[in-house]
Amino acid sequence: MLRRVQRAFEHVVIGGSVPRLVRWGEGLPQGLIRRLQEDGFAETVRYAAKHQKFFQRKIAAAGIDAQRVRRPEELGDIFTTPDDLLSLPADDFLCRLPDAVYETTGTSGAPKRIYFGYDELDQVAHHEAAAMYKNGVRPGDRVVCTFDGGYWIAGWVTFLGCKQMGVFCSATGKPHPREIYNRMPLYKYNVIAADPTWLVSLSEIAEKEGTFPIKLILAAGDRMTDVYRRYVEDVWKAPVILGYGSTEAGGGVGMECRLRDGYHLDEYDYLFEIVDPDENGYGELVMTTLNRRTQPLIRYRMRDVTRFAKEPCACGVTLGRIEGIRGRRDEMVVMGAGNMHPEIFERILHDVEGISPNWQVAVRQEGLRDILEFRLELTNGVNAELVEQAVRQNLEARYPEVWANEVCGMYNLSFCYLTPNKLGGTRKARRLVDERKD
Ligand SMILES: [Zn+2]
Repeated sequence: MLRRVQRAFEHVVIGGSVPRLVRWGEGLPQGLIRRLQEDGFAETVRYAAKHQKFFQRKIAAAGIDAQRVRRPEELGDIFTTPDDLLSLPADDFLCRLPDAVYETTGTSGAPKRIYFGYDELDQVAHHEAAAMYKNGVRPGDRVVCTFDGGYWIAGWVTFLGCKQMGVFCSATGKPHPREIYNRMPLYKYNVIAADPTWLVSLSEIAEKEGTFPIKLILAAGDRMTDVYRRYVEDVWKAPVILGYGSTEAGGGVGMECRLRDGYHLDEYDYLFEIVDPDENGYGELVMTTLNRRTQPLIRYRMRDVTRFAKEPCACGVTLGRIEGIRGRRDEMVVMGAGNMHPEIFERILHDVEGISPNWQVAVRQEGLRDILEFRLELTNGVNAELVEQAVRQNLEARYPEVWANEVCGMYNLSFCYLTPNKLGGTRKARRLVDERKD
């Protein structure tokens, strides 16, 4: 019922063709969003209990009556995990005939598969369109999207989003940046959607050979470090806005606004939880799909660690936000410094002068004390003392709570300098290792 009210409201406020801006929370009070979510959650649980073998087994084993479930916590420790998707047959999850499939390769090499209906891909595209609209994309703009193709079809979703807005879009797959650069004056693209490293390569060409007028750049995710972002923005004199998404969601589930203070979440199509939070609120992001009927996911563990932003965003959008992703749960090391993720050290080390990109951080134990050991390769004859000073300064400035634990003596910092290539040269070594004995 509520959903019908929402759709009617969207239609009246926005009209039929322009994306429903209301989806980005303009006009919908948070209380109403919460009620829509609760409604959608209860509906999804009842639907899955009827149609999804996997979920049927789970609630039967837990002795839960699906008709009575209103909130996620009432499902206790019932979750859907990436391992479930990897190890069980598709039929365990499929609730109706699918129209499309996404595949992703996990760290183990086996693909996760997730099926969609065309209507569901349109929903994902809709959120993307609304987020783009909020960031200033309008009919008359020209979007070039170079998200990679294959069984992971994020570029199509952006294409569908542009279609919903009536905006010109070339979704090209991921060609050499030179190919797009050469066509930029011809097609007059003024919005670029691409992954971070590709954007950097394109920007390197533009820095040497000249830029074109660009109003907005959209990049996927946290792999875009602050240094990359500043560089790309500097070259094009345009804002870089990040999105957060996943294969299981079929595309973006969150996007930054112009204030760039966390990802606004698609709370119309998903209900998000943070499970097992630490004392600072960081925990694993878990999502339940609210509108999917092909392969609904109930309490799907995203494996990404983040926390909810507490304050409403100054941009006026009432949708909730998460902060940037801190890391993967399976790469997390719990120690005296707090819950450590490789990303933390990437952010501490990426701009330290005089070290090579081959670094590693190890957690060791000496007596009863945790040691956080930076293993670095010195380059350009910079002396170790200056490097250590820079690392300590970055740690204090960027992760004050981690620094505070050091000051309190919860752990010790240590530095160890390796001869180049000891960590395996260009092959990527594990960034963060736990060498403590159990
Ligand atoms: Zn905002």
